[in-house]
Amino acid sequence: EIEFEDVCKSFEARPVLKGLNLRIRRGEAVGIMGRSGCGKSTTLRLIAGFELPDSGSVRIRGWTRDEPIQYELGPIKIGMVFQHAALFDSLTVFENVAFELEHNTDLEDDEIEKAVDIILSRLGLRDTRDLLPNQLSGGMRKRVSLARSLVSDLGKGAKPLPDVLLYDEPTAGLDPIACTRIENLIREVRETVPTCIVVSHQLSTIQRTVDRVVLLHGGRIRWDGPVSDLGHTDNPFVRQLLSGDE
Ligand code: ATP
Ligand code: MG
Repeated sequence: EIEFEDVCKSFEARPVLKGLNLRIRRGEAVGIMGRSGCGKSTTLRLIAGFELPDSGSVRIRGWTRDEPIQYELGPIKIGMVFQHAALFDSLTVFENVAFELEHNTDLEDDEIEKAVDIILSRLGLRDTRDLLPNQLSGGMRKRVSLARSLVSDLGKGAKPLPDVLLYDEPTAGLDPIACTRIENLIREVRETVPTCIVVSHQLSTIQRTVDRVVLLHGGRIRWDGPVSDLGHTDNPFVRQLLSGDE
């Protein structure tokens, strides 16, 4: 269970989160929506432990033991697919994806090659295998970073699959076919890692990947409900977001 309690977070005296309360249970797939700059990435970064709240608390508990743990991730592993994918510029696509396996596992080269090639094909990246990141489009870079977060569960010494996966704008800037591919992959990954949070501006991505949506606005959650209710609510924040009137 991930629990935000009255979380406030400012950057340079500008408040972004103003008392955020949110509870995500183990096994839930939750979407976070809201206009640009409302604090979606910040919320994910708080869960991943890259940021600390100014006040309030972010707790992750009940995963393998019951006592609350605060920013001590312990047995809980959190995977994050970043909004702005950071790849190693001097390594090829293959080398970027293979990096973790080469450095932290005992896998043989041919096993690594096989595993990386499988994930590259699944993400439609086979032809980019030997290219460098600066030869890729933004969408391809995003897919490479996704491949890298998903390839780690192999071999002795490999990190186990994460308990929670955080996706920050996984389909932004992708063409419809690439979007569908990523959405299918997120759904597929839910079978092994059921708890996930998907941040997206694209309603279709949210509808295809999660069951529950929260809408962030002005530093707080303004709507929280099943994804199927999004179209039926007269909540003004939801209406505004869906009308694209940002
Ligand atoms: P988008 O939809 O555009 O990705 P977002 O909802 O993810 O937006 P955040 O990235 O969480 O928004 O940022 C929220 C606000 O906090 C923005 O105004 C941003 O400029 C500011 N901010 C975030 N991180 C930092 C930082 N490290 N230093 C200063 N300001 C920051
Ligand atoms: Mg963001």
